[in-house]
Amino acid sequence: MTAAIAAPAYDAIVIGSGIGGLVTATQLAAKGAKVLVLERYLIPGGSAGWFERQGYRFDVGASMIFGFGDRGTTNLLTRALADVGQALETIPDPVQIHYHLPNQLDLKVHRDYEAFLQELIAQFPQEAEGIRRFYDECWQVFNCLNAMPLLSLEEPKYLFNVFLQHPLACLGLVKYLPQNVGDIARRYIRNPDLLKFIDMECYCWSVVPATMTPMINAGMVFSDRHYGGINYPKGGVGRIAEKLVAGLEAKGSSIRYKARVTRILTEKGRAIGVELADGEKLYAKRIISNATRWNTFGELLPPQQEPAQEQRWQQRYRQSPSFLSLHLGVKADLLPAGTECHHILLENWDELEVEQGTIFVSIPTLLDPSLAPPDRHIIHTFTPSWLGEWDNLSPSEYRDRKAAAAAKLIQRLEAIFPGLSSAIDYQEVGTPRTHRRFLGRQNGTYGPIPRRKLAGLLGMPFNRTAIPGLYCVGDSTFPGQGLNAVAFSGYACGHRVAADLGLV
Ligand SMILES: Cc1cc2nc3c(=O)[nH]c(=O)nc-3n(C[C@H](O)[C@H](O)[C@H](O)COP(=O)(O)OP(=O)(O)OC[C@H]3O[C@@H](n4cnc5c(N)ncnc54)[C@H](O)[C@@H]3O)c2cc1C
Repeated sequence: MTAAIAAPAYDAIVIGSGIGGLVTATQLAAKGAKVLVLERYLIPGGSAGWFERQGYRFDVGASMIFGFGDRGTTNLLTRALADVGQALETIPDPVQIHYHLPNQLDLKVHRDYEAFLQELIAQFPQEAEGIRRFYDECWQVFNCLNAMPLLSLEEPKYLFNVFLQHPLACLGLVKYLPQNVGDIARRYIRNPDLLKFIDMECYCWSVVPATMTPMINAGMVFSDRHYGGINYPKGGVGRIAEKLVAGLEAKGSSIRYKARVTRILTEKGRAIGVELADGEKLYAKRIISNATRWNTFGELLPPQQEPAQEQRWQQRYRQSPSFLSLHLGVKADLLPAGTECHHILLENWDELEVEQGTIFVSIPTLLDPSLAPPDRHIIHTFTPSWLGEWDNLSPSEYRDRKAAAAAKLIQRLEAIFPGLSSAIDYQEVGTPRTHRRFLGRQNGTYGPIPRRKLAGLLGMPFNRTAIPGLYCVGDSTFPGQGLNAVAFSGYACGHRVAADLGLV
């Protein structure tokens, strides 16, 4: 595709204002770059956005937030905000997840590491040593990550310096980079139910069982929940994106909403600009896509320009399912004192990965009551679902299927919240079609998952692409899904682009 030459008005254009895109943009702006963020929707945040209905402020997706700690180097959300002069008040969550699992496996992951281990060991006393050794090994990964600044692994000067300053941590990470959790867990643990539990510990953020989940990501998640902890941003998850935008603008860069990019413009094979849905063309020295790789290479560039390296990546990774989401407003007296914010429910291990199998629950109003009207709580519950279940339906079939799926979810949730169905004050159902429509994600996917067992994180692409001048950021780049993970990707992308612009 050839476009007319024009002097670039910006150092960088970022397509999309998810947390990955905003962290890239703010990192660049903080280094003096002139950045324009183009967002197709009305507000920033993408999967970390929000919507308001009848006095409830619902999080679109993410609500179990890592990266808000106040020490170490892995607290990337705290750092990303501070780098552009912003901060957010957060509320510590004393329990990451209350699990309700098959065979009466009912346990809580306490913020306190020892309390969590004791609770798990009480369920599997014969595995006491293995449990401790497995989770302690996760700490080794975390301690390596947490010893160094997390920037671009594609930047040789940084890699060289970090190796000089932290040689042992680097060697530790190199050791774990090609490994998966399942193999390490099986070195220490024998009990099949406990191994299933480790599968669920992975599945609930990686959407694949432990054998397919990279150890680097697990080291981060299984340890940071006890180190920096899970902390909910006061005012809702959407505040993170709002604050990043405020920081971006304070640094002299800008964001435009309702600005859907339909094409990445190239000249002699190099990305030089973008075209919006209304035909407007904008140019920059560097183009960064926060859309998924499938959207970027499958929709924003002509198919004949799809680089061989993207095709190879797609042979290794496929799209995960999307979610069926139920946003409920409920009477507050439904929830007894001591109810935790996050729950996971599964009745039968065979259904861990099936359509609408595992149920995730978040009740953010237990931490921040201001998100709901007085005497009300929000229950946001979601379960994996494929677009195929929801496509090609007539409007009435679609409505009926949503109602039936919501009723089934509510009926299953009665097991942990007795009386739920009669306590509902507000209800809204979102399907994979909703995720596709409002988040612009192909098939509404949550992100990439390995097609088969891969060597840890080695196959995940970094930020540079085979098209000069074009970078990708967000959950389809290293290290994957989750707000703190895409913040890592944003740090790395901002760093790599800044180096290419001569700003660092
Ligand atoms: C239901 C659900 C629950 C989750 N729970 C958690 C959780 O508890 N904790 C956690 O850490 N993570 C959670 N996640 C995952 C986390 O939200 C995502 O991994 C992360 O937010 C993805 O960020 P991103 O920057 O990659 O992209 P996105 O959030 O997808 O943002 C991309 C942005 O780009 C915009 N865009 C796309 N195409 C274009 C275009 N052509 N033109 C202009 N703009 C465009 C989109 O509108 C969007 O705003 C959850 C996700 C979901 C869906």
